[in-house]
Amino acid sequence: MRPLTRPSFNCKPRRCLVCEHPGRACARNRSHSLEALLAVIEKKVHAFDRQAESEPLSTSCAIRACQLSAEQIGQLAYQALLMEVRLTPKPGLVDRRNTGAHRDMDLCMFERSADAIAPWLPRFVTEGRQHAWAPAHTFVSLIRPVGLLCERDMFRATGGINTHKGSIFALGLLCAVIGRLLTKGSQYALSGFAGKLRRSVRTLWGRN
Ligand SMILES: [Zn+2]
Repeated sequence: MRPLTRPSFNCKPRRCLVCEHPGRACARNRSHSLEALLAVIEKKVHAFDRQAESEPLSTSCAIRACQLSAEQIGQLAYQALLMEVRLTPKPGLVDRRNTGAHRDMDLCMFERSADAIAPWLPRFVTEGRQHAWAPAHTFVSLIRPVGLLCERDMFRATGGINTHKGSIFALGLLCAVIGRLLTKGSQYALSGFAGKLRRSVRTLWGRN
């Protein structure tokens, strides 16, 4: 087995965070103090935070959501499932390094499970659209049958192990509420979309 290196993916060697010279040399020569390194890292994290804060989440989120098809929204939810399980390290949980405290599931099973759920995610969006005008207190029970079918496919893919039951509930409801809000579009101005989404999920969830 060969180690995976940046050159084998046609990537340039990693640069030093402090001086931008090839990082390997700086690391070997210990060119910079730990303090200097930490200061640069902290600065980068703060810069990222500031940028994330300055972006008005609700509006950009709404504009993006309005332009997306049910398929694309489902695709984003599917990517979220994969990102969540591949996020490493997650002590005690299944990640790319190990299976944490679990003996009956691993990364492969989670990915199989996500693949089984994927076709249902756009379906939640279309269900949400279809039931957009149903009274709020009936909404979750109208979506539930699709959720149960999705869950059945998940259990089929994992041999009966519960990998994503909670995710199906949370993401399924989220996708359905996005469909509902987008269909009600004319009443729901773009601004504050994220807040409306949050309130809707809370209302619909809370009643069941
Ligand atoms: Zn350096």
